[in-house]
Amino acid sequence: MIALDGPGSSGKSSVGAAVAAALGLRFFDSGLLYRALSWTAIARGVDPADGAALAALAPSVAVEAGVGGRLERVVVEGRDVSAAIRTPEVDRVVSAVARVPQVRAALLVRQRALVGRGGIVVAGRDIGTVVLPDADVKIWLDASTEVRAARRAEERGIDPGSVAGRTILADLLRRDGADGGRAIAPARPADDAVHVRTDGNTLEQTVAAVLAVVMPRLAAAPGGGAG
Ligand code: C5P
Repeated sequence: MIALDGPGSSGKSSVGAAVAAALGLRFFDSGLLYRALSWTAIARGVDPADGAALAALAPSVAVEAGVGGRLERVVVEGRDVSAAIRTPEVDRVVSAVARVPQVRAALLVRQRALVGRGGIVVAGRDIGTVVLPDADVKIWLDASTEVRAARRAEERGIDPGSVAGRTILADLLRRDGADGGRAIAPARPADDAVHVRTDGNTLEQTVAAVLAVVMPRLAAAPGGGAG
């Protein structure tokens, strides 16, 4: 089990997917569940402060394996919402939804069920601290806010210097504060996490840096290796 935590747009999903592919492991991005629940709450008009109503939505949300076996297809009651959950509308409410105790409890169970017996890289904010405290390897991936905002803007086809690009930067800062400051499972590196900074790196360089951390630890873990 490899826990890959870090703030928004630190590269967790692209790096995590590449690392998992290199090691023959599955990859799961836990943010998908928080985004899917937030999308469902918006669609149903559920108040993001109503914990019981939000938790009641959790069974409607599923993450399935897409082409290549990667757990990336997000389905809400039969509808594929994989693209719809990556919008500014969802970005705006997801931290408020993610701080609700009943939501975290419901999604904790879902995440552990998806992980099962392991053989997986899991990306998130609290994987090393709460979801998989016994993970074989824990990594905290980080980059400056400006680099992260520029990456997110590029992903969405937006000029980072434009008004929309500056809105992305402001939103990332707000979410960093909300996710790191919440009472339950705040986003933070586990005490035994290895920190990897990605500023100025290509994807390949960061993947190599993460593999350099992971390989010796997996070799030393019970069972003696990946796969
Ligand atoms: O990683 P991503 O930006 O898709 O995550 C969306 C939001 O989901 C985060 O801002 C955070 O509020 C929440 N989240 C969380 N715990 C995780 C993963 C995501 O609270 N393990």
